[in-house]
Amino acid sequence: MGSTNKEFDLLVIGGGINGAGIAADAAGRGLRVALCEKQDLAGATSSASSKLIHGGLRYLEHYDFGLVRKALAEREVLLRNAPHIVWPLRFVLPHSPDLRPRWMIRAGLFLYDHLASRRVLGGSGALKLDALGDSSLFNPQFRHGFTYWDCWVDDSRLVVLNAMAAARRGATILTRTRVEELRPADGRWRASLIDEHDSTRWDITARFVVNAAGPWAADVLSGIGAEASSGAQEGPRLRLVKGSHIVVPRVHELSDALILQNDDGRIVFVLPYEGQFSLIGTTDVPFDSDPGAVVASEDEIDYMLKAVGRYLRKPPKREDVVHAFSGVRPLYEEDAGKSASTASRDYLIHTSHFDGATPVISVLGGKITTYRQLAQSVMQELERYCPGLAGAWTADVPLPGGEMPGADFDAFVEQLAGSRPALPREFLAALARRHGSLCDEVLGSCREVAQLGRHFGAGLYEQEVRYFLRAEWARTAQDVLWRRSKFGLHLDPQQRQAVADFIDELGGCA
Ligand SMILES: Cc1cc2nc3c(=O)[nH]c(=O)nc-3n(C[C@H](O)[C@H](O)[C@H](O)COP(=O)(O)OP(=O)(O)OC[C@H]3O[C@@H](n4cnc5c(N)ncnc54)[C@H](O)[C@@H]3O)c2cc1C
Repeated sequence: MGSTNKEFDLLVIGGGINGAGIAADAAGRGLRVALCEKQDLAGATSSASSKLIHGGLRYLEHYDFGLVRKALAEREVLLRNAPHIVWPLRFVLPHSPDLRPRWMIRAGLFLYDHLASRRVLGGSGALKLDALGDSSLFNPQFRHGFTYWDCWVDDSRLVVLNAMAAARRGATILTRTRVEELRPADGRWRASLIDEHDSTRWDITARFVVNAAGPWAADVLSGIGAEASSGAQEGPRLRLVKGSHIVVPRVHELSDALILQNDDGRIVFVLPYEGQFSLIGTTDVPFDSDPGAVVASEDEIDYMLKAVGRYLRKPPKREDVVHAFSGVRPLYEEDAGKSASTASRDYLIHTSHFDGATPVISVLGGKITTYRQLAQSVMQELERYCPGLAGAWTADVPLPGGEMPGADFDAFVEQLAGSRPALPREFLAALARRHGSLCDEVLGSCREVAQLGRHFGAGLYEQEVRYFLRAEWARTAQDVLWRRSKFGLHLDPQQRQAVADFIDELGGCA
C-alpha cells in the first residue's frame, strides 16, 4: 500500500478471529474496511486455542447459562458454513467418584443437550468405559463415564477464511502492519501505520475504529492520541490469563476426545490431533508480561502430564512432548475476586467516546466459538452511529472453501478424487481439510504428482506453499508450517528449513 493515504469507513485493529470476523461482517454490509494486523493473521491467541467450537460444559458450574446457550447454538452454524475445517467430535468424560457426583454431571449434560437446538450433533449418554473397545486405556478405578458432542475447528484457518471472506467483499487486509497511533481529524480517525517488516510508515483515515487487539486491546485504548484521551471515559479492565497446550504422540486409538476432571476443579482435554498426535490442554495462569512472548512453563507441562497420568494406564511422559504452545486469554474484568479459571469467557462490547471524533468500539474477551455473534454485536453497536447499515448476513453464507452441497465433506472428497484421479486420494483428502472447495484454486492445472513441484515432505508441495503466499497472506515458514497448516509437526528440522529457504528464495511472495 506504500505511503499513499487511503480513506476507509472502518478500521479494524487486530487480525485474530474477532478482528477478521468483524472485518468480514462489516465488508459484507457494504463498508469500506481496512484490517491491520501487526504480525501474521492469527499470530496471537487465535492460533493457540484448544480448537473447540463448544458450549463449554464447565461454564455451567459458574451459572454462565447465557454464554453456554449462545456458544452451543453456534456449533451447527459453523459446521454448516465451514464443513472442511469444523467437524463433530465426541467427548468421553470418565466418572471420578471422588470429584463431581454423577447426578451433577447428568444434570449438566441434560442442560447441555437442551439449552440450544441440535440437528446434526448427537445428544449425551452414559457408558461403561470398556465398551469403548480399548480396555487398557484407563486406570482400573475408572469404569463408568459419560459422552457428549461438541465440534473441532482449525482455529488459525478459521481466521484466514474470515480474512478471505472480508477481502472478497472489498476489504483491505494489511498484515505485518501495526497501528501505532490514532488521532481524531475532522470527525474521522487518522491512523499511523507502520510496516513491521521494512518500517515504512503511512497514514490512513477511517470514520470508525474497532479495537479487536485481543490481549493488547487495553493498550490500544489507553494509547489513543493524547488529545483524544482527555475526553475518553475510563475503559474496562482486561485480565490476562495464560493457557498452554502440549502435543504428544497419540495416546489412544479412539476417535474421541477425553475430558478429564482434575482435583483442583479444572478440566484437561486430550484431543485427537493431526492424525498421529494428541493435543493436551490447558492451564489457567494469571499473566502480566508481554503477551507476544508467551511460552509454556515446565510447571504447566508437569501439571498437564500429571492430570492425564491420573486417568491413563500408559500416560505420556515428559520426553514424549514434541511441541508446546501458549496463548493469552484476554478476559474482561467483571469481578476482580474471581479466579483465573472461573472468570467469564463471554465477551463485552465497550464503546469509548472522545471529543471531536466518533466512538471507538472495543471487543474484550470472547471465544473462537462466538466470534460470528460478537461481530454481529459490534455491527449492532456501530449502527447507532452509522444508521442504515445493511442487516446481518453471516449465519447462512459459507466461508471460503465451505461451499459444498449439503455441507457434506465426505461427498466433496469423493468428487474431488474423481476429478483428479491421478493424484493420491489421501493427499487430496488432507488438502480438502485445509482448502475445501478452494482445492481447485490451489491445484490449478496440476493433475499428477510430478506437476505439484518440489515435495518438502508429509504431503506439502511447492504448489500449496505458493498458494499460501499468494492467496492467504503467508509471508514466512512459520506462517505456512504452524498457522496455514500444521506441517510443522510432520516435518523434521531439515525439511522445515527447506521450506524457509524456499520462501526466502521467493522473497516471501509467490
Ligand atoms: C489456551 C486457550 C485455549 C482456548 N480454547 C478455546 C477453545 O477451545 N474454543 C474457543 O472458542 N475459544 C478458546 N479460547 C479463546 C479464544 O482463543 C480467544 O477468545 C480468541 O482467540 C481471541 O481472539 P481475538 O481476536 O480477540 O485475539 P487475538 O487472536 O489475540 O488477536 C488480536 C490481534 O491483534 C493484533 N494486534 C494487537 N495490537 C495491534 C496493533 N496495535 N496493530 C495491529 N494489530 C494489533 C495482535 O497481533 C493479534 O493478532 C482459548 C484461549 C486460550 C488462551
